[in-house]
Amino acid sequence: MSHEDRTASARKRLAEYMAREGKRNTRQRDGIVNVFLDTGGHLTLNELLALAQKKDPGIGFATVYRTMKMLAEAGVADERKFGEGQTRYELSELGDEHHDHLICGRCGRIYEFEDEQIEQLQEAVAARFGIRVTHHRHEIYGVCIPECAPRD
Ligand SMILES: [Zn+2]
Ligand SMILES: [Zn+2]
Repeated sequence: MSHEDRTASARKRLAEYMAREGKRNTRQRDGIVNVFLDTGGHLTLNELLALAQKKDPGIGFATVYRTMKMLAEAGVADERKFGEGQTRYELSELGDEHHDHLICGRCGRIYEFEDEQIEQLQEAVAARFGIRVTHHRHEIYGVCIPECAPRD
């Protein structure tokens, strides 16, 4: 699915949620939603705040916090923690979309990957325990080579 398609269906899902909950759009909330949808992934609240403030310096942390909680509730954003304990937000997976993560422990870069063989192996392992998989999170930690690898 292209980034445009994902963004469009995220907007649709959000609009439905807001109509259902009787929530109204505000300019600041809109600005934060746009920043999040444009970047698509793995940002902390402070990173989102910094980007949102470039467009509207009046936006504060509390608004970013509340907006992202709302997006999570609407099923548009997923809250993730990768090792370092800070919550990061990414676009929720839609339909049968799925990806896993590789994380560099030095620079913090986060890479996404999909691997059909890993997916199938996970299913097979779970089946051995009599578990039907509903979802999973697979995270691989390491260092980027060569940029972040220790030199000797
Ligand atoms: Zn991701
Ligand atoms: Zn790195």
